[in-house]
Amino acid sequence: MWNRNPYIQYMYSYPHKTAYRTLEGVSLKDYAHLLSGTGHGLYLHIPFCQTRCGYCNLFSVTGQGKEAADRYLQAVGRQAAQYGEILSPFHPEFSDLTIGGGTPLFLNEAQLTDMFHILKRHFHFAKHRELVVETAPNQTTREKLTILKQAGVTRVSMGIQSFSDEELRTLKRGHCARRAREALALLKTFDFPCVNVDFIYGIPGQTVKSLLASLKEALTYGPDEIFLYPLYIKHGAILERCHKEAFVPDAGQTVSQYREARRYLISEGFRQDSMRRFVREKEKRAFQECGFGTSLALGCGGRSYLGNLHFCTPYAITREESLRQIEAFEHTSDFSGITHGILLSGEEMKRRYLIRHLLICPGLDRERYEQQFKSRVSEDFPVLTDWMGEGVVRLSDDKKYLTLTEEGMELSDCLGPKLISSDIRKRMQEWEAVYGQTDDFV
Ligand code: SF4
Repeated sequence: MWNRNPYIQYMYSYPHKTAYRTLEGVSLKDYAHLLSGTGHGLYLHIPFCQTRCGYCNLFSVTGQGKEAADRYLQAVGRQAAQYGEILSPFHPEFSDLTIGGGTPLFLNEAQLTDMFHILKRHFHFAKHRELVVETAPNQTTREKLTILKQAGVTRVSMGIQSFSDEELRTLKRGHCARRAREALALLKTFDFPCVNVDFIYGIPGQTVKSLLASLKEALTYGPDEIFLYPLYIKHGAILERCHKEAFVPDAGQTVSQYREARRYLISEGFRQDSMRRFVREKEKRAFQECGFGTSLALGCGGRSYLGNLHFCTPYAITREESLRQIEAFEHTSDFSGITHGILLSGEEMKRRYLIRHLLICPGLDRERYEQQFKSRVSEDFPVLTDWMGEGVVRLSDDKKYLTLTEEGMELSDCLGPKLISSDIRKRMQEWEAVYGQTDDFV
């Protein structure tokens, strides 16, 4: 059953954006109370990149200059002001702020400074909040890192992907290995509390040897976390359109690379928290990923999760559509209306909870599930019993958690999609029938 291509879909959230539809009569004002009190996440999306990576279909555009970023930030400022006003009766305190994209450090120094001012002016953050910023080697300068340091950034995440120039060219990354080395060396001098670096495996032409060489080199910079992503060519990505046949990853080779990389990182003192995340054992912070709790997104392209309401701007994979949406965002005068998203049923909330916990260590806490949903997870999802029989899921030693086995972890991108409900799958297929033909999108 399991010895076929395990790379079906990365379930980093559920449901996928392609299951979202037009919403009517929904307002942030009706959900603002869900942000009362502490422990919420705030996300700001910066949808600009210098160049387009070959595999990417994230909400981001290239070819934009200072004026475009200024216009965008002005709109973010107006949105933040309105959101702040709507939320003020509920006194929300945000414990996590993530600035992602795109490439947030595409903004120049003045814009970055403005961005932090906007966020501080309109939102209240916990004293020991996490502040995460994503970056890329070409945009990582001493001046910009100084601004991040002054803003109290706690975690910097950098997309390196490989230290092989050939592999970087295959991926159509905008940086070369030399620039990646310089950026990492510079980043190290700033001593941020947590530095994360991303790598990709399953790249055509990549070997176990070249992957391990990249990881070995990465460790010389002392990162706290490493994310290892299998290569997916997503809908609308340059590599899908130009060279689809040549870029179908070889599942057998990809699995071998995963196993060897995993073995290497564990032997170097990293703990595996999910199929993708490896963290230094000394690093004690809990794994947090967008979509676990209540999270509000600012800007265009980010997702908000408020109870059973998930929303964002419509899913866009072409440059034209992304630009159109950014323009519409900049012309919005009232940000309180929620026009695109999904309202999850109780059954879908259970699925979401299962997917968001089972695929990540320590796994799904059975008692907490029961408290939350007043039912047993094994009765709601009989497939879990089958998976235990097949050796991909097990009970933790203290019987508290349902957790993936080593084999199950390796099969995360195959197990997760099996938990998608028929209703959500139907919606995704409807989207696919209009916008794409393959099932390898994220
Ligand atoms: S992968 Fe990241 S850096 Fe590359 S185009 Fe996509 S958003 Fe930009």
